[in-house]
Amino acid sequence: MGSTGSIGTQALEVVSQFPEMLQVEVLSAYSQADLLIQQAKQFQPNVVVIGQEEQLEHVKSALWDDDIKVYAGEKALCDVVQMDCVDMVLSAIVGVAGLAPSYKAIESGKQIALANKETLVVAGELMTRTACENGVNIYPVDSEHSAIFQSLAGEFHNPISRLIITASGGPFRGKKRAELQHVTREQALQHPNWKMGDKITIDSATLMNKGLEVIEAEWLFGVPLDKIEVVVHPQSIIHSLVEFEDGSVKAQLGLPDMKLPIQYALTYPDRKPSNFPRLDFLHHSTLTFEEPDMDTFPCLTLAYSASRQGGCMPCVLNAANEAAVRMFLHDRIGFYDIPKIIEASLAHATFCTPSSVEEYLTIDKETKEYISHTFRQ
Ligand code: NAD
Ligand code: MG
Repeated sequence: MGSTGSIGTQALEVVSQFPEMLQVEVLSAYSQADLLIQQAKQFQPNVVVIGQEEQLEHVKSALWDDDIKVYAGEKALCDVVQMDCVDMVLSAIVGVAGLAPSYKAIESGKQIALANKETLVVAGELMTRTACENGVNIYPVDSEHSAIFQSLAGEFHNPISRLIITASGGPFRGKKRAELQHVTREQALQHPNWKMGDKITIDSATLMNKGLEVIEAEWLFGVPLDKIEVVVHPQSIIHSLVEFEDGSVKAQLGLPDMKLPIQYALTYPDRKPSNFPRLDFLHHSTLTFEEPDMDTFPCLTLAYSASRQGGCMPCVLNAANEAAVRMFLHDRIGFYDIPKIIEASLAHATFCTPSSVEEYLTIDKETKEYISHTFRQ
């Protein structure tokens, strides 16, 4: 799901290396119909799903000769992930749009490779409980969580005393509030180490990405918030660390390349050969660590606070962040309006404990409506 995005396209590069082991049954995208058609012609899936219904006829006619079924819309995606021929679903949609189809896949017992962190932020309790009930493993694709998962191999029975999630610090590391008041969308989109979709790139500039990852780690590894720390590591070589009860710390290292965590999620428990560039320690002889600057980057504090409150609050946090980032990407608000809007949305929300996908999606919608009424520009 999300085959035309940054993770989706890299995942297809990985898949193309293992034709005997990995076959694509479904491809889906929201609006990039032509790239989806090209991918479908190359990988010959059973089904493709295009999000935008108005593009259905275009995709259908392009794939007429290929014996590929073509559907459109979210409901179709929720249906096709349940097909018998599907063993594993790679959830690489951005944002809360990934929630319903990921949930349907889990409910029907499909293994999950999860890039779509927003899903666990919004509905971590529901998703992880449903996964347990259906014997589903959720394999992390996010590089930090993959690093933790790799460090836990052979250690699953050992209690974790601390998770240390590394952050590059994004394009504005070292800057202070006064210098960031008027940063533009283009400046915020210049990530020093990773090439990713626009939404996560802005999340990296505000450090909300790290906040979302802390919540993601809580649910994936069942570790309480007070045992999860963030450390800024500008070189992005150490992808995260686990400390055990005896004080030993394990980490996973590598060049910043998402293909490695994608491949590990798809081939677990095996490690398959790859031609990814290798880490040369002599070229990366200095690895440094800093405390995150919570004053300059308040989104990280907001994420900890929403998670501490629990219930619907992480869902409100995510909805407000999605709406604010979208407004920032459209040049409608400034950089510091992002945390301002999130803080106002959390303060405005009424605490509740949702128990279904529909209830979470209602809260998401209400939060976004509140923002569009209150912060109309
Ligand atoms: P992207 O914007 O490049 O791609 C998003 C994909 O989702 C596209 O294929 C798009 O068509 C699809 N999509 C968007 N909205 C949709 C909708 N409403 N319905 C159906 N499909 C929709 O994003 P990305 O950078 O690949 O990130 C995807 C997810 O992976 C995000 O949750 C992100 O946080 C996570 N992630 C990304 C990276 C990375 O390196 N890019 C790293 C770690 C985690
Ligand atoms: Mg990450």
